[in-house]
Amino acid sequence: MKNLTPLFYCFFSIIACAQENFNLYYEETENGFSVLADNDEYSPVSADITFRLENLKSSQGNNKIFVVPARTKKHKITNLDVVDRSKRVKFGFETSFNFGNHDLKTYDTNFDYYLPFEKGSTFWLSQGYNGATSHKNENALDFKMPVGTKIYAARDGVVIDVEDSYSKRCTDPECAKHNNYILIYHNDGTFAEYAHLKKGGARVHRGDQIKIGQFIGYSGDVGWATGPHLHFIVFLQRIKDRVTLETKFLTGNGSKSISLIEKEEYTRNYK
Ligand SMILES: [Zn+2]
Repeated sequence: MKNLTPLFYCFFSIIACAQENFNLYYEETENGFSVLADNDEYSPVSADITFRLENLKSSQGNNKIFVVPARTKKHKITNLDVVDRSKRVKFGFETSFNFGNHDLKTYDTNFDYYLPFEKGSTFWLSQGYNGATSHKNENALDFKMPVGTKIYAARDGVVIDVEDSYSKRCTDPECAKHNNYILIYHNDGTFAEYAHLKKGGARVHRGDQIKIGQFIGYSGDVGWATGPHLHFIVFLQRIKDRVTLETKFLTGNGSKSISLIEKEEYTRNYK
């Protein structure tokens, strides 16, 4: 089931715009100001910035999406140069930003994902891509499994975000706000989310490098759900939404990868 995307808005005038791990700020230059970003996240961050300028000209335009690479300091967004030195200057901007490269179009469509559970186990796909219950227009997979089932990484990556503090489950979409999840960034620019984990069920932390097939936490029944399961998605993150993707998985002994089908059972008998 769908989670709310973290999305931050800042409206300000000549002050820094700060969220815990992403900062927009300015420094004075000979000709005006330089707008800079520090990104302490483990993925790129995209920021949609609209400048409101008086007697200043932006070298990169007034309304644009800027992509700031992961773990960078003082990334140059734009220069704001004074137009007429005899007049006053004023500036402000509005921005919204989110994880990921908003402009990313291509990714590895041939990657063979691991089933996200333990070798030797079998689980039922209770809901598949675009499923009628809660996956309308979403390429999401629900693996039905008891609370406390071990979850394994479907692909290598770095942990971007972890939430496992919630304990409540309900069948109202409102409950998506109280979801537990692990969010992992892959090297092709896609993300994976493993959702509905049990309270305190994550065994990884933000910044951890994860290997495919690595144990990462325990499944649960938290957030917007109708019963215990693992909700798994791979997606491209846009500033305001997620583009969920169909992927292929190795099944059985791992000799071939297939698209998973709703109401089928799958076994992981590899590695
Ligand atoms: Zn689901």
